[in-house]
Amino acid sequence: IPVSHIRNFCIIAHVDHGKSTLADRLLEFTGAWSPSEHKGQQGAGKTQQVLDKLQVEQERGITVKAQTASIRYTYDGDEFLLNLIDTPGHVDFSNEVSRSLAVCQGVILLVDANEGVQAQTVANFYMAFTRELVVIPVLNKCDLKNADPEWAASQLQQLFDIDTSTVLKISAKTGMGVDDVLRSIVERIPPPDVDRGAALRALVFDGWFERYRGFLTMLYVVDGSIKVNDEIVFTSENSDSDGKVKKKYIVKGLGVLQPHEESTGVLEAGQVGYMFCNIRSAGEAQLGSTAHKSKDLITPLSAFPPAQPMVYAGLYPIDQSQFQNLRIALEKLLINDSGVTMEMETSAALGAGFRLGFLGLLHMEVFSQRLAQEFGTDTIATTPSVRYKMTIFGEKAIRKHGGENIIVSNAAEMPDLIHIKEMLEPLVCATIITPDTYIGPIVKLCMERRGKEVSAPAAIDSKRVMMKYILPLNEIVMDFHDTLKSLSSGYASFDYEEHDYAPSNLAKLDFMLNGIEVRELSIIVHESKVREEGRRLVDKLCELIPREQFGIVVQASTRGKIIARGNIKPYRKDVTAKLYGGDITRRNKLLARQKEGKERLKMVANIGLPRDTFIKLLKK
Ligand code: GDP
Ligand code: MG
Repeated sequence: IPVSHIRNFCIIAHVDHGKSTLADRLLEFTGAWSPSEHKGQQGAGKTQQVLDKLQVEQERGITVKAQTASIRYTYDGDEFLLNLIDTPGHVDFSNEVSRSLAVCQGVILLVDANEGVQAQTVANFYMAFTRELVVIPVLNKCDLKNADPEWAASQLQQLFDIDTSTVLKISAKTGMGVDDVLRSIVERIPPPDVDRGAALRALVFDGWFERYRGFLTMLYVVDGSIKVNDEIVFTSENSDSDGKVKKKYIVKGLGVLQPHEESTGVLEAGQVGYMFCNIRSAGEAQLGSTAHKSKDLITPLSAFPPAQPMVYAGLYPIDQSQFQNLRIALEKLLINDSGVTMEMETSAALGAGFRLGFLGLLHMEVFSQRLAQEFGTDTIATTPSVRYKMTIFGEKAIRKHGGENIIVSNAAEMPDLIHIKEMLEPLVCATIITPDTYIGPIVKLCMERRGKEVSAPAAIDSKRVMMKYILPLNEIVMDFHDTLKSLSSGYASFDYEEHDYAPSNLAKLDFMLNGIEVRELSIIVHESKVREEGRRLVDKLCELIPREQFGIVVQASTRGKIIARGNIKPYRKDVTAKLYGGDITRRNKLLARQKEGKERLKMVANIGLPRDTFIKLLKK
């Protein structure tokens, strides 16, 4: 297929506005997939979400990974190749979106005609706009009784200066208007700007691990072509490997995803497809690197900026003997999730483990769930924290913390206050879109979270406003989104981007279980919230920690002073006490069940903590 007949695009939208459903319809309309073939799998009549492959996606009903499908579409008798990349909508996965955009020339900006423009619609629009991509505005769910396409279209005009006559009105569910979407893709989005005559350059924009074939990469071929048996190497824009001999690979397989694999043996400039070349270890190929022939000297393609993690947490194997297995699993999953950073870490109570950086709390939960489901690991995660910057003084303190200017993302490693000259905390700039009836409660929430209004709420139509706030990241990572949703009955939406660091007055809260300090439970909070949080977290710990045969005293302290205290009563005797001599098999069964329950706990200070204690603790 000539370059002029290729279109690369993705679908971007706020969560639940119908991206995955539209992707399914596009596949169905072009014959790449038909619902009848899949009836047995997911139940007839249900929305299928063909591209949401991961177990976690099906369980949570959200897309967390961008997925690719190459579809053939006949337009006026000509055959076109459309490469569709379905993307996640949640703010935590925006790095997936920005990576997808790097291989596209256009986007379908999908907006639910009931809900209108939401916070992630705004964020996504600007991501595409700043990359100078063609935007096809599409209003979805027009089949619904309450849909108001005219109103939604006028919002698009008001906010993004979009000509309302270019807005398509469709229903991804019934298929109405989907033909127009296909035609518009061909008519409005330009073909990729590539050179088939030049030496091969292909961008590695995604990848995953498989047991037999090793690392599979998703490639966007920008120049030349790649064939099976080619000898290739990977170079990355910011690699420091100059002079080192690069590892060479022989291409073993190439093809496109339709969305099932279709081997083609060759990929030409403009195409998007998969490639495997027997890469066995996770360190060998990186997302964002350029694949090229080993004999050619090329300028690497400019990659997408590396993800900037927002929250950090320790991850430890429940059983220390599983440490190496955990490392291998992490390395593999990291290839499929470029938003995560990883370092070694050890903890007195939890042993050897890792400190991981995530883009948000949902991202962290999804990542842990994938680790367990796809790799069978058994881990405990510590309380998440943002990254603080601190300047310290005193020779001893500087030596201990390895410098004068340090980064603290683990409360257990926060220096003593007497050695701290300055503390800085990360801020974000948040966009909130809401019906104006909720302005009052939202302003109150933002104030409670130490937010500062950037500008007065701006009307985006007669009923809705857009609000902008600067907020400390540590006030929003845990539960801001949930709280905002519940106080606005689900109507307000929220998105944020990084802002500056600002001086702050921070304090460390420590916790003791039966008099033993558990450093892994320590958290950093704003000075003004120490008491309130100390009380809340003690109560929460009393709720989360299962009873033992002895009583447990939970205490919170700051600067060595106890500020809150709670008790967990002992439970009465063992589970078999009532079954005097009774049926032996029944007794064994009960004992086994009790043991199983214990194994799901991590013993800390002689007390069993459920593995999700640390994460649950911070949720309000
Ligand atoms: P995504 O988060 O943007 O990928 O959204 P999904 O494709 O998962 O859709 C979210 C929900 O909206 C699902 O329950 C879909 O069945 C529903 N939905 C999607 N498109 C339409 C539509 O055109 N009409 C109606 N009535 N429902 C739709
Ligand atoms: Mg989806």
